[in-house]
Amino acid sequence: MKHSHIFVFIETIGKKAHPVSWELISKAKDLSFKLEGSDVWGVILGEDLEHICKETIYHGADKVLYVKSSELNDYINYKYQKVIVEMVKKYQPEIFLIGATLEGRELAGMIATELKTGLTADCTGLDIIPEKELLAMTRPTFGGNLMATIFCPEHTPQMATVRPGVMKESSLDFNKRGEIIIEEYQFNQIDNLIEIIEAIPVKSGSNLQYAQIVVSGGNGVGGKEGFKMLKRLAELLGGEVGASRAAVKKGWIESEHQVGQTGKTIRPIVYFACGISGAIQHIVGIKESNIIIAINKDEKAPIFDIADIGIVGDLHKIVPALIEEIEKRLKSGVKK
Ligand SMILES: Cc1cc2nc3c(=O)[nH]c(=O)nc-3n(C[C@H](O)[C@H](O)[C@H](O)COP(=O)(O)OP(=O)(O)OC[C@H]3O[C@@H](n4cnc5c(N)ncnc54)[C@H](O)[C@@H]3O)c2cc1C
Repeated sequence: MKHSHIFVFIETIGKKAHPVSWELISKAKDLSFKLEGSDVWGVILGEDLEHICKETIYHGADKVLYVKSSELNDYINYKYQKVIVEMVKKYQPEIFLIGATLEGRELAGMIATELKTGLTADCTGLDIIPEKELLAMTRPTFGGNLMATIFCPEHTPQMATVRPGVMKESSLDFNKRGEIIIEEYQFNQIDNLIEIIEAIPVKSGSNLQYAQIVVSGGNGVGGKEGFKMLKRLAELLGGEVGASRAAVKKGWIESEHQVGQTGKTIRPIVYFACGISGAIQHIVGIKESNIIIAINKDEKAPIFDIADIGIVGDLHKIVPALIEEIEKRLKSGVKK
């Protein structure tokens, strides 16, 4: 059996790794058990990222390919593309996984076209067909009405971008050892096509996928004022605010907060569904939550079919009561 590598792009924001990188490393580890003779490599670009190299190994990577250059500190698409394409040609990975973040989606497309290989975007499932050594890449299509499993049998690397929050991150193993391959990279005579002038902080809602508690609202919230109340509850619980598409469409909250098939897939410990009916397109984004608490005045609402705790009633009475009670408990010294 030949020796093959599974590459995982470790996306960095400042000097930190994007959490989707760890989700992908742990998925790549699962895949490597099924792909005989394979190992998992994290690919890191930038400077002063030794701590992330180590972290990548603790998360399960066998090797780290650390491409060092001050020119790679900020994400600049054509520079990243150039470096990664060279590294792929040099080390010949069989599979290449990238998080389906804004940057990841762009980068993956640029790499795949340059390498003339296949790329499946925004996957929610990955598996190995062992007898063929093929990566089965599954993603929702036709607005989520059809799940398509896509193969790339004749070109390498088999590339996929994967939705953040879909794969589970495994726990850290500080005893894990691995090799760090350092490539000192020099750009010669590359035009500066893109100049970053300023970094504007991201809007709220961007942490939704990684929040442990999400308080979500739907049509039943009734307006922007109602969302203020949900924000207060989320704040008290140290969580984030989510929303159904109906609420986003009405302009009560920004689209970054949308949960579901065409929004974000989340896996919080506690999910509050306030005034959300529980349409399938919403449920697909929340079904992995540990505990779902539904507040809805219609006892027949489908959300109650998946809720762990269901409260039948008017959210405009129940949420303020919850806020009041939590404020009281926090004041009396109960920790968040
Ligand atoms: C291709 C496609 C993709 C989609 N993607 C998404 C997606 O990503 N995310 C998403 O959410 N939807 C998505 N949808 C839309 C989805 O089908 C539903 O229309 C949407 O989820 C409904 O939102 P809702 O539950 O907030 O509203 P509704 O279905 O109108 O439900 C409102 C609920 O609030 C309750 N309610 C009303 N007033 C109160 C009150 N005072 N107190 C308590 N309860 C109250 C009602 O009983 C009702 O159950 C998609 C649809 C399509 C076709």
